[in-house]
Amino acid sequence: MAQRRLKILLVATEAVPFAKEGGVADVMGSLPKALADLGHDVRVFLPRYGRIEPAQWDLDRTGVVKSFWFGGATQTVHIWQTTLPGSCVTVYLLDHEGYFGRHQKLYLGQDQIDEQRRFLLFCRGVVESLPDLDFIPDIFHLNDWQTAPIAAYLRTSFRHLTSRGANRVVYTIHNLQYQGRWGPEILGDAGLDPAAVFSPQGLEYWGDVNWMKAGINYGDVVTTVSRRYAEEIQTLDFGWGLDELLFQRHTRVFGIANGIDWDEWNPETDAAIAQPISLENPLPGKQADRKALREEFGLPDDPDVPLIGVVSRLVDQKGFDLVAALGDLLGSLPVQLVVLGSGQAPYEHLFRDLAGRSANVRARIGFDVALSHRIYAGSDFFLMPSAFEPGGLGQLIALRYGTLPIVHATGGLADTVSDLTEHPESGNGISFEAYEPQALLDALHRALALYADREGWPTLVARAMTHDSRWSASAAAYDGLYRRVLRLPPTAG
Ligand code: ADP
Repeated sequence: MAQRRLKILLVATEAVPFAKEGGVADVMGSLPKALADLGHDVRVFLPRYGRIEPAQWDLDRTGVVKSFWFGGATQTVHIWQTTLPGSCVTVYLLDHEGYFGRHQKLYLGQDQIDEQRRFLLFCRGVVESLPDLDFIPDIFHLNDWQTAPIAAYLRTSFRHLTSRGANRVVYTIHNLQYQGRWGPEILGDAGLDPAAVFSPQGLEYWGDVNWMKAGINYGDVVTTVSRRYAEEIQTLDFGWGLDELLFQRHTRVFGIANGIDWDEWNPETDAAIAQPISLENPLPGKQADRKALREEFGLPDDPDVPLIGVVSRLVDQKGFDLVAALGDLLGSLPVQLVVLGSGQAPYEHLFRDLAGRSANVRARIGFDVALSHRIYAGSDFFLMPSAFEPGGLGQLIALRYGTLPIVHATGGLADTVSDLTEHPESGNGISFEAYEPQALLDALHRALALYADREGWPTLVARAMTHDSRWSASAAAYDGLYRRVLRLPPTAG
């Protein structure tokens, strides 16, 4: 019997190619396509930040304009539409000049009341406009705290959207650290009745509103982006205060690994890199790309010295305090380090400082997608020592370009990187267990030894490139979960 075609709506704050700060954007740019390939009617809803130019992205007006009372005033939103390039996936973009259009930045900072208000307005605008867009999905797939308020609306003032009782909410946690907490007065702005939602069974958390909690309690199922992280978040160390709740709901918590878009990240055809890297014989391409990268950063092209790349948000989560602890020791190792990233000032300072003091370290503070391609391609190793990592895409992209990841064994890194010392015949990288500077240093020494084995090295590069990170398996897992949750009774809430 043919499977029913589902209507699926993914709501998120970023998606490649329109707006990106982190991995969520990669997921939103590629998972919808993979789901559409399975035959579903898939649509995506995003805010239209100022940087998303209508002319650049062929945005058309849908004609849907909604006005509603929000935050003590009448607000009006317009809905644009376009398609995800290279697919039939419809993308809706919610326009509001004051909250989104006049801002180039995606995020204003979690300490800003306007950060709360703008994403609430976005959520409200989504549920307000869906009937006019004539699209009531079977699956509302919400992502992270910013879109979790939709789950609260669907349980309360917008219950009519689910009145057939046939729709379900899938809530995906891409990072449990960012929960979106604010004082209860925010409920007045949102137009949510405190009597209905402000309780421990709803979204109340230590006297505050916690939108992540709304997603967990009001979602029919909760997913996160690796199996390991799905387990970790139910423990004190990784739960950010929500571990008990997640543990109580563990029968409805699932881990589905992210894939990457193999067309976008394709070493054989990548126009951003100096020379293509062939799967059959990767080393000539890799050496040419490394030479070009070294030239770009003014580093000597010494074949005996491996190059380690970093492409990352520079935030606490990413483990660079371990690098800081190694400090000048890094400068004395026979390696080169090239860093691309931006984020918290202390880490930006750390890498600027290291680059200033060590002849073998270079840093580019900023966000640059083309340069990220050149680093993935031109590095021998990719360093990702995250303290915690829900899924992680950097290590998957690195593998695709024949670059061996050096990772802390946590979350999605533990699920995707298999240590070569433990598994010499099948491993694809270097992974360390203890979150300590010495463990990182040991890992770097192990990397050096692997690189020094000139005979064994080509096999490792070729093996890394065979790691299957395509979306197909993950999209099939989401497909299975959507169908399963549609058969389950809706969650109480
Ligand atoms: P997170 O979502 O926590 O930032 P992921 O590893 O899941 O981490 O995804 C990071 C994505 O963002 C990758 O595609 C990576 O290449 C990209 N990225 C991170 N920092 C930069 C940067 N400074 N310039 C370009 N791309 C970046």
